[in-house]
Amino acid sequence: MTCLEGSHVHEADETRECWFLTGSQALYGDETLRQVAQQSAEIVALLNAGPEIGVRLIWKPVLTGAAEIRRACIEASSTDQCIGVIAWMHTFSPAKAWIAGLDALRKPLLHLHTQVNLSLPWDEIDMDFMNLNQAAHGDREFGYIETRMALRRKTVAGHASDPLVRQRIGSWARAATGWHAAQQLRLVRFGDNMRDVAVTEGDKVEAQLRLGISVNTYGVNDLVAEVEAASPATVDAIAGDYEASYSVVPELAKGGARHDSLNYAARIEAGLRSFLEGGKFTAFTTNFEDLGGLRQLPGIAVQRLMAEGYGFGGEGDWKTSALVRILKVMGADQPGGTSFMEDYTYHLGPGEPKILGAHMLEVCPSIAARRPSCEIHPLGIGNRSDPVRLVFDALPGKGFVVGLVDLGDRFRLIANEIEIVPPDAPLPKLPVARAVWKPAPSLSTSTESWLMAGGPHHTALSTSVAIETLDDFAVIAGIELVRIGDATTTEGFRRELRWNQAYYRLAQGLAR
Ligand code: MN
Repeated sequence: MTCLEGSHVHEADETRECWFLTGSQALYGDETLRQVAQQSAEIVALLNAGPEIGVRLIWKPVLTGAAEIRRACIEASSTDQCIGVIAWMHTFSPAKAWIAGLDALRKPLLHLHTQVNLSLPWDEIDMDFMNLNQAAHGDREFGYIETRMALRRKTVAGHASDPLVRQRIGSWARAATGWHAAQQLRLVRFGDNMRDVAVTEGDKVEAQLRLGISVNTYGVNDLVAEVEAASPATVDAIAGDYEASYSVVPELAKGGARHDSLNYAARIEAGLRSFLEGGKFTAFTTNFEDLGGLRQLPGIAVQRLMAEGYGFGGEGDWKTSALVRILKVMGADQPGGTSFMEDYTYHLGPGEPKILGAHMLEVCPSIAARRPSCEIHPLGIGNRSDPVRLVFDALPGKGFVVGLVDLGDRFRLIANEIEIVPPDAPLPKLPVARAVWKPAPSLSTSTESWLMAGGPHHTALSTSVAIETLDDFAVIAGIELVRIGDATTTEGFRRELRWNQAYYRLAQGLAR
């Protein structure tokens, strides 16, 4: 649909880049340094050739001295489109030369431990070869200074031709891209969070300090003004797109008895999009307790905006909304989708226990198994007219749910690896989009661990982002991530929480 094109919510992928810095030293002489430059450019070409790394790597001239290292790190930090830096010590690069640079570096860092040759040339090898191919000890010197400086980074070892190596770099590059988006994330809340709810609260100043996200509230009637101002042509175009994209029930379709409701839903979408674009917001929240002059609780509008890449959280849940947005950016070039989600109710048996997740209306069609159905049903909550929504089952597959909580002294991410499965039977009387999944390692261990960690009822569910990428993101952000997966036991998890409690309090130091 043409009115969606050019939306700022889609990051311009082709403009993002990641710098590749190669370390060496002047001692080797010009001839060797020329080979170092040539070989590191080959490594970059090899990494760029595969499909695994979604960001373009930019080769930078070989660095041999403290002043130029510092300058390169400052330039990377001040270059907007640079999402991170990969460093490789092709030869020996005395690491005291890196202190000022690494101290100035404000971008995510990956330390690649590799070498040009795959095999040792056993018959040919001489001291010239030994002197040229020294990453085995050059990178140890670099790792020492990174550790001494307590730098957060990802370390990846292996040959650049290995798809697994490129995948691990790609995972980090996506995390760094998510981090980049978080630094520019402006989130609008229409109204505050749901009254008396604890977990959707949080320290928004701390969130901006830690994650970069800027969270601000607007009166919902500011949105209503945009909704009322939407032009009939825009509303018509959006309603037409509903009929073209989904199986619209006859009562909502053109000529149907409730077509006005469809048009009003389209009007909400027009107003919301215009508000978000006008304020350069990439995530938002709504609250059914605070709908002002809105005649329907936003349903299909929220679902479609999420599918375009916006973050969303219900009941004023800005932390989950920001998570949805960040995951959308990290998974943008991958199959699958990401949605706002809520653990709703359980199937405890017979058969394998499962979780039924949904929300009142707002589940993203990027996770839909097939063409959604566009329907209208009463909603007991919100005290407004019946809202229009998209109804579907989620596509089976592996993924995770992740929640973000504010523990008072820090943020904690809690993730659970899941497998979305088809429902055991059709759900003919459930008029909302939903996902049914088996949580790893089992429903009981998953939920016991989730509750011990203080995990929220709202989550972001993703089938497009690898859990490794979430882990990479937590390292970049320096926030706690606890993972519940196949190897989790409640005893081990309880101990991990206790150790983390000590670690994260100590790691904050006395200054805070
Ligand atoms: Mn909710």
